Amino acid sequence: MVNKIAAGEVVERPASVVKELLENSLDAGATRIDVSIEQGGLELVRVVDNGGGISPDELPLAVASHATSKLVDADDLFRVRTLGFRGEALASIAEVSRFLVRSRTAEAQAGAELEVVAGKPSPVAPCGSPPGTTIEVRNLFFNTPVRRKFLRATQTEMGHVSEIVTRLALAHPRVHFTLRHNNRQLHDLPPTEQLLDRIGVFFGRELAAELIWLESRDGEVRLSGYVGHPNQNRPNNRMQYLFLNGRSIRDRALGHALGEAYRGLILTGRFPVSFLSFEMPPELVDVNVHPTKLEVRFQDGGRLYSQLLGTLRTKFLKTDLTHKLDPAGAAGSLSDPADPAAAHDAERAAQLRSELVDWAKGQVGAWRSDPATEAPAAPIAARQTEFGLSRPAPGQRPLELSPLVARAAAPSAIDAAPSAAPVVAQAAKTSTGALQIHNRYLVAESEEGVVVIDQHALHERILYEHFRAKTLAGAVESQSLLVPEPVDLSGPEAAVVLEHQELLARLGLKVEPFGGDTILISSYPAMMSASSPAELLRSLVEILLAGGRAPERRDLLDELLHMMSCKAAIKAGDRLAPEEIDALLEQRHLAHDAHHCPHGRPTALVFTREELDRQFKRI
Ligand code: ADP
Ligand code: MG
Repeated sequence: MVNKIAAGEVVERPASVVKELLENSLDAGATRIDVSIEQGGLELVRVVDNGGGISPDELPLAVASHATSKLVDADDLFRVRTLGFRGEALASIAEVSRFLVRSRTAEAQAGAELEVVAGKPSPVAPCGSPPGTTIEVRNLFFNTPVRRKFLRATQTEMGHVSEIVTRLALAHPRVHFTLRHNNRQLHDLPPTEQLLDRIGVFFGRELAAELIWLESRDGEVRLSGYVGHPNQNRPNNRMQYLFLNGRSIRDRALGHALGEAYRGLILTGRFPVSFLSFEMPPELVDVNVHPTKLEVRFQDGGRLYSQLLGTLRTKFLKTDLTHKLDPAGAAGSLSDPADPAAAHDAERAAQLRSELVDWAKGQVGAWRSDPATEAPAAPIAARQTEFGLSRPAPGQRPLELSPLVARAAAPSAIDAAPSAAPVVAQAAKTSTGALQIHNRYLVAESEEGVVVIDQHALHERILYEHFRAKTLAGAVESQSLLVPEPVDLSGPEAAVVLEHQELLARLGLKVEPFGGDTILISSYPAMMSASSPAELLRSLVEILLAGGRAPERRDLLDELLHMMSCKAAIKAGDRLAPEEIDALLEQRHLAHDAHHCPHGRPTALVFTREELDRQFKRI
């Protein structure tokens, strides 16, 4: 069995050496591990630990292949508690480097060392050594030039080394780690009881501060750790850390469960951040399926999937996920500046913020100054708003009067009404005290400060929740058409509709074949009365067809619900009457997740009072 694993699979690059050495040190119970690297690990990898050490007579065994001191019989392979288990790593590394191990057990008076060059060991010699083990690996791949040629630039190799150290340091917060490269210290991580401290060191306090703690137990399996707030999403899944019994692993299915839990909370194509750890008895998992044990096979993967998804969903329902903007511009600093979507979000947030501040300043100006002196500027600003031109070009600060003030000022130019009066009047009429701005955002006072709500996104979310609940209960209100409407489709379109006839009926859309590729709609969901039945059917067909092509799409019904809620919701640009604003805001509390529309855009931004105070230099 051991023979199946070739040396090359274990030692691929300097980072693989670091991984094997660190795992051995952790197995040996080290509480402090110092890693020194030279030239990305090509010159030198040195790992010094204060663990149990190796006795002189065991040193030759440690570097001989197929000699694992811990391995008693083959059954043990399935009950591996420690990180190493094949007794192959040191031998493989020593095969392709100038290798030195120096070690001393706690009881021994002195240490012993052993050198191996390209697989040839020299005799064990006594030496001075503190308790623990030091391993030096020099000139990696010096005797396998082809392998050496495949290595990347020093910085790239060092990046991989760093990543390995990061993973293991996150998995073992109680162990003191240091990392040096070319004699420069990169990390000094004192032991801590708090995983969060480690996360803060590697990824910044700001990120750590917003993480959400999770914990659950299912039988003998314990899940714990942190996941990111939806607004901490990333363009790739590199910040998804997953640990199993202290080992860093990768698992497609669990990654998928994570994505599924954030569905609707973050935009498609973006990835949540996570630092999650599973603890379970070793016999529930086979770690012997991958040469470096990166991938594992769970006895009951489906149950873990459900546990992860269930824990996340329960947590999110209980958590306030409203976006917060902090004065330092955290929205920008948290996201990857090279990423256009994040940059856009940050820009949008910054723009909203400056509009709001400008608006507030404008209000003060309007109250203080004589309306007549404001009049000349007003019509221009008003016209700009009307034609949607008030949005500043990218990078340009909004120069004109704030839109709200402009809107207020416009009637004053035309009707000679007092400046700002209509806005104030409207605000007074809504019982929630909210204002609509730009015909798309609602601004309301909250306990914390000011909330800016995207009217479309919020309405969409509310309809989605409502519609989903009705659908699951089989109680969607359907409205019969007086004259059933025939819709001509293509062959495959008609086929997919008939195939999903029942699903569509659950959504309130009753259809039947009408000869050829024509489908007859006899009734449609009452909620969708604003859109034409034929148009609705065509949009549904699009999703059904796409769903058929991608079988991993788990939730076809969910996609259909998203699309329908989006269509039925009020749009950005719809002028709302004060009663409508009130109705919308009152329903806000009905939605399970009123903070995000089903596409994952935030539905609301909060400007805390503290931030406003800061912006106005009150604090
Ligand atoms: P494995 O870890 O799979 O057993 P390795 O080749 O990585 O195989 O290590 C061989 C053996 O050498 C280990 O089983 C362990 O007994 C000993 N060993 C290696 N590194 C250390 C260390 N840092 N401290 C104590 N013992 C070690
Ligand atoms: Mg090992």
